[in-house]
Amino acid sequence: MDTKQIINELTPYKPGKQIQEVKKMFGLDRIVKLASNENPFGYTKKLDNLNTLTPSFEVYPDGYTAELRGALAERLNIDESQLVFGNGSDEIVQSVCRAFLYPGVNTVMAVPTFPQYKHNARIEGADVKEIPVINGYHDLQGMLDAIDKKTNVVWLCSPNNPTGCAIPHKDFYTFLDKCPDDVLVVLDEAYYEYLDEKKDLDTLENLPNYKNLLVLRTFSKAYGLAGLRIGYGIADSNLIAKLDVVRGPFNTSSIAQKAALIAMKDDAFIADSVSRNKRIKQDFQQFLESIDWHYYDSETNFLFISTPISGNEVFEYLLQHGFIVRPLEGLGCPNEIRITIGNESDMKQLQTIILQLNNKVIEEIQS
Ligand SMILES: *Cc1c(COP(=O)(O)O)cnc(C)c1O
Repeated sequence: MDTKQIINELTPYKPGKQIQEVKKMFGLDRIVKLASNENPFGYTKKLDNLNTLTPSFEVYPDGYTAELRGALAERLNIDESQLVFGNGSDEIVQSVCRAFLYPGVNTVMAVPTFPQYKHNARIEGADVKEIPVINGYHDLQGMLDAIDKKTNVVWLCSPNNPTGCAIPHKDFYTFLDKCPDDVLVVLDEAYYEYLDEKKDLDTLENLPNYKNLLVLRTFSKAYGLAGLRIGYGIADSNLIAKLDVVRGPFNTSSIAQKAALIAMKDDAFIADSVSRNKRIKQDFQQFLESIDWHYYDSETNFLFISTPISGNEVFEYLLQHGFIVRPLEGLGCPNEIRITIGNESDMKQLQTIILQLNNKVIEEIQS
């Protein structure tokens, strides 16, 4: 069977190891998954009775997502026509590539960054220009310099996955002002809720001035609804209309729409998750400093950490001791790992295991 040639060159997304798989492999009773930046505190209690609220399964979902759309538009103080929903923000990434990228044009992004930008861009046959981050931060001037007449889309991930660093407010607007206005700028804010308030880019207030800006957010991370798959994009309504052409007609399920509507109203849950994350993250950062393992700044629920032996070896050691983290060799970072900040007790236990590993490494160096 014949496919686009590029399909033979790409591999499917490799998910983090599944809990059941690891339990069996190492005969462990308990596994802690810190590999996909999920919320270790779950999701709002208001969803405990979701089964009594969901509409009939035999009926198609509302393809317009009207209820959630109305509530979000009001909350974000934008027009309903400025929203597009996706089966996770992943699907909106795919829609952007489908609508705006094709052979002969190019797209500019950081490296390392969220791998789905590149993956989908390549499927559409566009050239990908990757600009290395500087200490985990986007090299915005480097990215501007890379833009040429053939550039259709630029990806900014803030805070950036996997580095955790957020783009400073001033730099973001300097970038937007210098970027040609026929280039689509995608600002992926999957970790928006974890941002320090002061560093919020106020993107929505300024949206009317930048008709080429698309902001992506998701219910998967801080809201804890990764398993339901729902995210959204915010932009000028003309841009949204283009994405609406390429998206599937019933791309978000009725349950996901309902759950997101309920979840978005529980601000206390988000505030609690964010403050606990912050406290546990600071404690873990102090621990890393005590053993001299370097990490990047992070305004997220994960840390990008340099390891004294290869990231894959650290990954294997932690796996054998019941912790799944993310090695980053596939993203071009062989001596780094990404660890999601888990709950208090799991992170204390992880510290003990990393300490053992670090002592072993030191012993080996000395012998
Ligand atoms: C997790 C993540 C996404 C995808 O989230 P979904 O809404 O679950 O598809 C998008 N961008 C970044 C940077 C992420 O980390």
